[in-house]
Amino acid sequence: MHFEVLCTDIFSRARRARLKTAHGVIETPVFMPVGTQATVKATTPSELLEVGAQIILGNTYHLYLRPGLEVIQNAGGLHKFMGWDRPILTDSGGFQVFSLSKLRRITEEGVHFNSHIDGAPCFLSPEVSMQAQQALGSDIAMAFDECPPYPCEYEYAANSLDRTLRWAHRCRAWAGKRRQGAPLAFGIVQGGIYQDLREKSARALVDLDFDGYAIGGVSVGEPEAEMMRAIDNSEPFLPPHKPRYAMGLGTPPQLVEMVARGVDMFDCVLPTRLARNGTAFTATGTVNLKNATYRTDLRPIEENCSCSTCRAFTRSYIRHLIKAEEILGLRLITIHNLHFYLNLMTQIRSALEAGTFAQFREHFVANYAKYEPQVLGHEAELEE
Ligand SMILES: [Zn+2]
Repeated sequence: MHFEVLCTDIFSRARRARLKTAHGVIETPVFMPVGTQATVKATTPSELLEVGAQIILGNTYHLYLRPGLEVIQNAGGLHKFMGWDRPILTDSGGFQVFSLSKLRRITEEGVHFNSHIDGAPCFLSPEVSMQAQQALGSDIAMAFDECPPYPCEYEYAANSLDRTLRWAHRCRAWAGKRRQGAPLAFGIVQGGIYQDLREKSARALVDLDFDGYAIGGVSVGEPEAEMMRAIDNSEPFLPPHKPRYAMGLGTPPQLVEMVARGVDMFDCVLPTRLARNGTAFTATGTVNLKNATYRTDLRPIEENCSCSTCRAFTRSYIRHLIKAEEILGLRLITIHNLHFYLNLMTQIRSALEAGTFAQFREHFVANYAKYEPQVLGHEAELEE
């Protein structure tokens, strides 16, 4: 069995579990740093290990277009190409085809589109995507789907979902042939904000017996209440003995709330993307180090943080680097932010093991919200 639930919370749907992949075991709940273009922006693999990353994301659409699969296969796969020997989850490319590419034409067979880089004509289908993900050497491959925008009319969401389910059949059929070295295959629940479509999607995917299930079409610009509802409308239909992954989420309190709703896996560009405009995460909300208040502040980004940035550097120094547009500034904040997200998941896992998750959840969310100056947007993250 590739997934084992170690313990469950008695006050919520949260669980502490373990997922086995070809490149190692992942302790969940887990946060996966996003490495769209075969790099988690501005970090090296050894820095990722130091902040506690267990698994990272790669993106099929981006790598398929540049440098191209043959370049990565020539290097012996994505792990060797980028010098990362732990697990990698690959996105199917569906989300980017629908959000980034130009002149796309959707057919039953797949999607014809033009590269956003040079306009070259390309084609992705369920089979092409699964084959590409295996060629990359992915540990967890995602089914090729359409992620409808928000807002989205019922009729469009329903038709899109039907096609996505037919594509899911083809992804499952491809993965089901149990090719040597084939990655685990996850289906993606869609259906927008519509309760009946979410249920239909989840039930149909469970019938296909995927290795795990993602909840997609969240964090695409909808209000937070809709996001939580999309999870609540999908999760009850997913089997307890398979991993669940909420795609593209979220802020630290949202992660805690999603864990309480039974989600095991997360990815989000917020820690790396916000680092690049000088924003750092702390247990009491975000701080923007560009602010004049930090000009002579000799404290670390966060007191008692054990990351390499906070052990060695002050807010005053990092503010100077950001203002002077020195590349080290964004690297230092990126490392702190990734450490913050990964350490949050470590704390969640410990609280679940100790049976204290309810207290942790209440304290963390209240403490964060009390000081957070503005609620962060969770608009669609098209590209890092
Ligand atoms: Zn730190």
